Amino acid sequence: MDVIVIGGGLMGTAATYFLARRGLRVTLIERHRVGTGATVASFGNIRRTGRHLTQLPLAHRSRTLWGEAERMLGRDVEFRVAGHLRLIFEEDALADMRAYATAARPWGLELEELGANEIHARFPGLGPGAIAASYSPQDGSGNPRLIAPAFADAAQRLGAQIIEECEVGGIDTTAAGFRVTTSKGSFEAGRLLNTAGAWGARIAARFGEPVPLTPRGPQMGVTEPLPHRVLPVVGIWTRRHGMDAYFRQVERGNIIFGGAAERVDVPLDPGHAKADPARLPLQLRALRQLLPALDKVSVIRTWSGCEGYLADMLPVMGPSATTPGLFHSFGFSGHGFQLGPGVGETMAELIAMGDTEIPLHDFRIERFTLMVNGESSAAM
Ligand SMILES: Cc1cc2nc3c(=O)[nH]c(=O)nc-3n(C[C@H](O)[C@H](O)[C@H](O)COP(=O)(O)OP(=O)(O)OC[C@H]3O[C@@H](n4cnc5c(N)ncnc54)[C@H](O)[C@@H]3O)c2cc1C
Repeated sequence: MDVIVIGGGLMGTAATYFLARRGLRVTLIERHRVGTGATVASFGNIRRTGRHLTQLPLAHRSRTLWGEAERMLGRDVEFRVAGHLRLIFEEDALADMRAYATAARPWGLELEELGANEIHARFPGLGPGAIAASYSPQDGSGNPRLIAPAFADAAQRLGAQIIEECEVGGIDTTAAGFRVTTSKGSFEAGRLLNTAGAWGARIAARFGEPVPLTPRGPQMGVTEPLPHRVLPVVGIWTRRHGMDAYFRQVERGNIIFGGAAERVDVPLDPGHAKADPARLPLQLRALRQLLPALDKVSVIRTWSGCEGYLADMLPVMGPSATTPGLFHSFGFSGHGFQLGPGVGETMAELIAMGDTEIPLHDFRIERFTLMVNGESSAAM
């Protein structure tokens, strides 16, 4: 085997697909079913607005791949270019949006600024008190239930081995690479990719690479179905604590929402995140500003998911700093859904070719070792 991938979320399944497409022999090991970690819980936002600037090349690569997903994977993963609208209600938030738009332009992200009249003409019913908005027409959403199984099935058709309900126990380094001991036997490969999501820091720690990861659960909800009227994914620019809600309407009419409430704590064992009903009224209050019609609508379900948040809110991506042949890609800090296909292609490129055109410097694992040694300022 050339590569073992540990963790079958979006990152692991996408990397497996792109490694197999490059002709490498790959085994993916997932302790539950593929895509049932943070990935399935996602809101499904395919958003570039507001991203850390040095993440934009990766986000652009990923956006291109989302556009090719149906043809590439042979299945509709409900990627829709609905646009991403972020409403603005205060002058300080307008200044923040303009500063971000100016800074992001050289990185290839063009945001349109809409005034109040334009918002109300183009998106009736949204944010009646909004003074402006940013609009990113090429962004949108995808279905978090479909994408990881679609990558896994496509990888399997290319010859990759997908092993589910298989927990990784021991990992040893050998003369040829790595031996991974699991509940379904031992597997060996020359290279190892750690895509274990919120559990990724545990694997990194085994190789002497401590990472400050906190498992948390963003809280999501969905309403009863309404007539389908809202096209874009809708969010907000705000400095006001507890007002940063977001929502989108799926084609079946339900409105999916999140944000505004604090993320819940999640114990890594067993890693099941539970939504807290006490936080729902805060979310609904924030959402009302974006879509007053939500006032009269019933919420039919709430949920959460276990996501790994790093201290600087950036993921770990790249080669291990201690162990040749080991690669990490985890800790996507609540914004990995958009990045997933690009992460998979980039990690496959890095593993197969030894390099990638995507800048990964800000995501290197040793930035945390530098922090411990007091050299953090340039890295953060
Ligand atoms: C509620 C919620 C909403 C979100 N909304 C958005 C959004 O709208 N837009 C966006 O861009 N991002 C969003 N995110 C973030 C995004 O979903 C994640 O960043 C992304 O899905 C992470 O993918 P992953 O493959 O790294 O992790 P996961 O999907 O968690 O996959 C990791 C896998 O590793 C497996 N694993 C761990 N340890 C072992 C082991 N020892 N042996 C075998 N398998 C193991 C786990 O079982 C798991 O399946 C959201 C996240 C959550 C939780």
